[in-house]
Amino acid sequence: MDLYRLPRHVVPTRYEIRLEPDLVTASFTGVETIALTVSEPTTEIVLNAAELSVTDAWLESDRGERARATVALEESLERCRLTFPSSIAPGQWRLRLAFTGILNDKLRGFYRSSYKDAAGVSRTLAATQFEATDARRAFPCWDEPGFKAVFASTLVIDPALTAVSNTRIASERREGTRKVITFADTIKMSTYLVAFVVGELESTNPVSVGRTPLRVWCVPSKVKLAAFGQEVGAASLRFFEEYYGLPYPGDKLDLLAIPDFAAGAMENLGAITFRETALLVDERQATHAEQERVADVVAHENAHMWFGDLVTMSWWNGIWLNEAFATFMEMLAVDAWKPEWRRWTTFGVSRAAAFAVDGLWSTRPIEFEVRAPRDADAMFDVLTYEKGASVLRMLEQYLGPDLFRAGVRGYLREHAYANADTADLWAALGNAAHTPINAMMDGWILKPGFPLVSARRDGGDLVLTQQRFTYRPDPPPFVTPSGSRDQRWQIPIQVRFGTPSGERLVRLVLDGAEARVSVPAGSDYALVNEGGHGFYRVRYVADLLDLLLRRLPDGLMPIERFNLVSDAWATVLAGLTPVTEHLDLTARFKAERDRNVWTSLLVALAALNRVITPADRPGLEGFTRRLVAPAVADLGWDPRPGEDELTRQLRGDLLRALGTLGNDPTVQAEAARRYRASLVDSGAVDPNVLPALIAILAHVGDADRYEEFLRRFRAATTPQEEQRYLYALAGFQRPELLAQTLERAVSGEIRTQDAPFVVRTLLMSVYARELAWDFVKRHWDQMDRLYPKHGLRRMCEGVIGLATPELERDVHAFFAARKIDFGGKTLEQYLEQLRVAVALREREGDALAAYLRRFS
Ligand SMILES: [Zn+2]
Repeated sequence: MDLYRLPRHVVPTRYEIRLEPDLVTASFTGVETIALTVSEPTTEIVLNAAELSVTDAWLESDRGERARATVALEESLERCRLTFPSSIAPGQWRLRLAFTGILNDKLRGFYRSSYKDAAGVSRTLAATQFEATDARRAFPCWDEPGFKAVFASTLVIDPALTAVSNTRIASERREGTRKVITFADTIKMSTYLVAFVVGELESTNPVSVGRTPLRVWCVPSKVKLAAFGQEVGAASLRFFEEYYGLPYPGDKLDLLAIPDFAAGAMENLGAITFRETALLVDERQATHAEQERVADVVAHENAHMWFGDLVTMSWWNGIWLNEAFATFMEMLAVDAWKPEWRRWTTFGVSRAAAFAVDGLWSTRPIEFEVRAPRDADAMFDVLTYEKGASVLRMLEQYLGPDLFRAGVRGYLREHAYANADTADLWAALGNAAHTPINAMMDGWILKPGFPLVSARRDGGDLVLTQQRFTYRPDPPPFVTPSGSRDQRWQIPIQVRFGTPSGERLVRLVLDGAEARVSVPAGSDYALVNEGGHGFYRVRYVADLLDLLLRRLPDGLMPIERFNLVSDAWATVLAGLTPVTEHLDLTARFKAERDRNVWTSLLVALAALNRVITPADRPGLEGFTRRLVAPAVADLGWDPRPGEDELTRQLRGDLLRALGTLGNDPTVQAEAARRYRASLVDSGAVDPNVLPALIAILAHVGDADRYEEFLRRFRAATTPQEEQRYLYALAGFQRPELLAQTLERAVSGEIRTQDAPFVVRTLLMSVYARELAWDFVKRHWDQMDRLYPKHGLRRMCEGVIGLATPELERDVHAFFAARKIDFGGKTLEQYLEQLRVAVALREREGDALAAYLRRFS
């Protein structure tokens, strides 16, 4: 028997929940009535509860029967066992429970969030975050996604406050000194989608999308930052109703910005919660990247109203059905809304993030066994989101967008208000396409890893071969390897040939070790993974690669240039290409003007910065200046009329790189001058450039600058401004300043939703990493107590930056001694990524030093 799954002979159909939170004492009392169907005689009912005290429990029926239960809480299993004196007969019952609980500070379950109001006074609100398994901290329930039910909630609150839940308010009345708000019934849905928010909230006026009123909620004084989020909310909701061919399943849609929030956002049906940076933004002051983040997250959560909320995975092993789809749909919606943002090109960056983990021996298949709650938590990673979405994009391109959409519509219609598995999705897509797709897709969903496709010429043929991509030939000893070396995939491939009469496209499925494509006469290049949608990396022999590099910059699409750089860098990390060759390749991108391609180039330089010795740093700085300076000289510091948003953002990215990684004194001096000017006239600096100035000034900053940025962090008027100054506090070089930032990460001054990410940044910084690692070791217990689980896990991702042999040994010793487990394969993945970085240093350190000396 699985200790983590509830018995299935008692099934809930409807919950009536009444909760009375007390924001002052940080506690709540609750009563609930759960309508149950009992399918076999039993003396016992088991449901989930954690950190709750159940004070009374009894069963009753319409037949007048009544039975009081003995309650036993099993804290370690997060269950509540109700035992009855005699057997309960099959049929319909009502279970009535009375309980109390706490509003915790760990940003999960029912929790407290605090903020300062416009007058600087501390205020509290209460919010919920239930996914994956924390509804059980707010009310006893069958807390598994497969137990869908209707929820009818009532909140009893201070009359001065506002309450929001999943549905419209059905009634509101006074009861003594309290306000009692009853919400309409929800659709049949899973427990993890229930939400309550109580506090001094303000909202925008609703906009109507079809029959749905859509509003943005936030703490008072921030409503002026809500327009952009509401606009993208309405646009994406409209897009999805059309794409899915089904109306929005709720009766209203509220988007709520919560000052303390562990994840990015949460798709509670009708009451989507966000961290402030993912919903509230001042369009005139924000960078392109900051606006894109809001658009992405809002569209993603809206996509979930169907994928996840209306149709839900049966169990957490299938979470990719929610998250991969929402990520894929987010791209489609944002791309439709703002085609000039070229969202699918930017998606290359996300795909590369998935490759980085999926190339490890410690990767996992997208669909992966989940038992304990911490294993469910570990599923919310780049493999579920980014790999999953990449695989869907590849399938969409393979089937064609129309057939793909028809399959999605069929799937949603068939499983609405119910649960589904991966096989159901393949069946629906296969039906629409009139071709079975299981065999092809199983390789991408049920097997770990991805293929490296190698391309070479053999006479009149282009020869394509596949092998599993791994960073190391053999698994390191501390890893339980996932999958095997000789795995093969059915890979849908598009090859483009350049011929005298134009471009020729060839499509094939590479399902064996090798495939041959005859090269059209007169071809002057062959590009594998045309359009860049495939979830595989490509390695060309030197002469084929050279033909492609001659087409730079504009003879290839931006996503293709991105892949060229990203794939080449991966082969360096895997020991297949010398690092010096990669730097030569990088130098050929001086004329590049695409933001995403530059991201890929700069990611590799940042990685090298972490593996070189301090003596080689001037060489890397010199190399960076030589690479970046021509583009900066061309773009200048100020936006030009008619320029697109991506170019503006690129200007900011490149200036930042030149002033920090390139350590360019001229840029640093100009940054200081322009920053001063921006304080007098906020319009003096383009919003896309301002964050770069702040990062540069932190990089070379002294104690006075630190104090200044700290003040600005505290006084920030938008979530984005607050984040810029906060992360700048991690960007200084002086140890005594970095030590202050570390202290602030545990003192309560930096919100616990942000602090782990700030520490992660410090672990990744070559100036802070020793200090930060030492601090983490000494403050581990405190951080474990303070930070949300999710945050602590993400913080530890920073150990990837500790890329020296000594630090690596110390990291292993620490995690082993502390017996730390983040669930799933998370820790193994961090340790293996660290090994990949240190191995690069060991393998290439000398050659790199000799190469870089020329630039110092
Ligand atoms: Zn999601």
